[in-house]
Amino acid sequence: MHDMDYEQERLRQLHDLQILDTPAEASFDRLTALVADLLEVPIVLVSLVDQDRQWFKSRVGLAVSQTPRRGSFCQYALIEGRLLLVEDTQRDPRFANHPLVNGAPHLRCYAGVPLSIDGTHLLGTLCVLDLKPRRFTARQLEHLQTLALQVEELLRLHARSLELDRESRRSRKRAARYEAIFHGAAAGIVRIDSSGRIVEINDFALQLLGYHREEVLGSNVSRLMPSHWARFHDRYLKNHLEDGSDQIVGKGRRVEALHRNGQRIPVHLAVSHAPYDEQGGRGDFIGILSDLSEIHETAHRLHKQQQLLSVLHRGLTDYRALLSGNTLWTFLKHALRELTGSDYALIGEVLHTEGSPALKIHALSDLSWNAESQQLMSQLRSGGMLLRNPDSLLGQVFVGGQTILCNDLASHPQHRLPPGHPPLRNYLGVPIVDQGEVLGMFAIANSAEPYREALVTWLEPFTSTCALLIKLYRQLKERAAFTEQLRQTRDEAEAASRAKSEFLSAMSHELRTPLNAILGFAQLLQCSQRHPLDERQRRQIEQIEKSGQHLLNLINEVLDLARIEAGKLNLNPEAVNLAELVREACETLTPIAHQHGVTLQHTGLEHFAVTLWADPTRLRQVLINLLSNAIKYNRPQGSVQIDAQQLGGCVHVSVRDTGIGIAAEDMPRLFQPFSRLETGNAAIEGTGVGLVLTRQILEQMGGRIGVTSRPGLGSEFWFKLPLGDTLRIPSSCTQPLCTRQARCKESCP
Ligand code: ADP
Repeated sequence: MHDMDYEQERLRQLHDLQILDTPAEASFDRLTALVADLLEVPIVLVSLVDQDRQWFKSRVGLAVSQTPRRGSFCQYALIEGRLLLVEDTQRDPRFANHPLVNGAPHLRCYAGVPLSIDGTHLLGTLCVLDLKPRRFTARQLEHLQTLALQVEELLRLHARSLELDRESRRSRKRAARYEAIFHGAAAGIVRIDSSGRIVEINDFALQLLGYHREEVLGSNVSRLMPSHWARFHDRYLKNHLEDGSDQIVGKGRRVEALHRNGQRIPVHLAVSHAPYDEQGGRGDFIGILSDLSEIHETAHRLHKQQQLLSVLHRGLTDYRALLSGNTLWTFLKHALRELTGSDYALIGEVLHTEGSPALKIHALSDLSWNAESQQLMSQLRSGGMLLRNPDSLLGQVFVGGQTILCNDLASHPQHRLPPGHPPLRNYLGVPIVDQGEVLGMFAIANSAEPYREALVTWLEPFTSTCALLIKLYRQLKERAAFTEQLRQTRDEAEAASRAKSEFLSAMSHELRTPLNAILGFAQLLQCSQRHPLDERQRRQIEQIEKSGQHLLNLINEVLDLARIEAGKLNLNPEAVNLAELVREACETLTPIAHQHGVTLQHTGLEHFAVTLWADPTRLRQVLINLLSNAIKYNRPQGSVQIDAQQLGGCVHVSVRDTGIGIAAEDMPRLFQPFSRLETGNAAIEGTGVGLVLTRQILEQMGGRIGVTSRPGLGSEFWFKLPLGDTLRIPSSCTQPLCTRQARCKESCP
């Protein structure tokens, strides 16, 4: 080892001994006295060599307690590393000039044995000095060395006692800390021995469990647990001690502790095992209990709050489904019981019948106890029976609008139950009020916990949701009644319309048959060769035929109208060439136009070269109707102009005349059945059905009709129909017309 390191370590050991400058000790002094005696020397020292001095733990024959290290005799003994014997200092060049040799006290002899406690580092010497030269016997030197070993032993003892001191201080500190932790902890701590007996228990645990210390010390810890847990606990301890299986030791878990009053307390228990005690036993177990009541309570409150929220959420979002299935009230009743931990619940609505409020029960827990009461319950539930008594526990709520809270029903004056009725312990009745009006009420009974005002406050969102739902329920009921009424009215109107259509249809048919016969016979008479008619007879027959024809037209149109109204007009739409239809219609009507002195003209058939999606027969009917009106309601030398134009996916056809026109105030009646306008057409033949039919037919083919007119100057009737090629609907298509209409509206500007 390096010299510096050696010296440092040596000094460290010496200082760690904490022996320098300590008072004299008899154990050392006895040894130095013995040395003086055995070696017959005047001076004996236990010298410890410090950094700059040598200090004497024990001294015989010397007054000073320390001398400088420099030049000291002991220093040489340490360098020597073993017994240094200087029999005559004056003859030893190391010491001959030493001031203590030359001068007083004239030391002439030195023998020193180095001292060490670890066998390596030399801390000082046990040395003897004499004022005359000496020659020690071997035995004396042996004594000196043996006694030096004893001094070393004393130094070691000193070191050990120091260590012991330190250790005892440490353990006192540990004990104090343990005490502080054990008794001052904000958790329950219970120490038990290996057989489960309580050895120690802190104040927190005692307070948590409601015991005094002397009641539980020495008794088995299982008395602090509910029986089901105690059973497992003993087994777990046993298993741990037998095979080290750790079901509880070293693990924290949530368990229940048992209060002295029998109440169960949720706790977190962490058990640790101190394996051996001083008596060599199997050690102790320490259990740390943290009270989870508050956490438990908070979690419980949170859970309840979530439950309430989900009830409200479901009630409000699903109310339609709940109402339509008529399960809303049962759902609310169930929720109410769950939320309040009550055995029974009812929800009812206040009706105002016979001038006083009455409660209609919507949902009710079963309280029946025999067949009769069962019948009563189902009567109440079905709404077949209303509750009216204003003085009953329910009446005070739904009539008086009071909240009734009673936790001791037995002593309540209004509480009377028929024999056999399940007992009711506590009761809470809450009115459901909206803007001062009691809409209904709910009541709960028999909860494990007593009812409190705070519960009523907590349930406020539930109560106001009930109010909202009752109002919605009423609105929906009203609307359902209204819809039902509408449906009935519609059915009646439809039945009436059907009857009318059937009547018209039957009548038209009945009329047409004899009329055809009349017309046939009139024509026969006109053409008879055998009995030629005279002039008067021919005019009469012509009149019969003309009137008959008019009647037949009227009947045909009425029949068509009846069919349309009865939804029995069958259309066979197909791709139709408009030019062809226009040509045909013009050909048919040209003679009539001549008769009326009216010119029928169009811009050229090439303008009509489009394909339409329509029923050709009905479209022909439309064209003839509009053209014949334009001829009929024209003026002499007037004209009728027919045009067509393709717009988007539609064709726009217009029939313009130069006739009498239509007054603005007459427009609304134009498309009404049997309405013929007064203005100047009294003499013009017509039925007043043609335009109605035209519009119906066009609309059924997905088209539209419109009119503009300038009275005295003429009118323009137009219609739009979807183009065949843009629609690509097969001719056999039986799609509802609305689809096609939609397409026409989409594609027509
Ligand atoms: P009808 O021509 O058989 O009387 P319509 O239903 O075809 O029945 O027409 C209803 C009424 O509308 C007609 O009576 C007539 O007063 C008026 N009207 C129809 N077309 C024209 C027209 N082009 N110009 C003037 N009035 C018309």
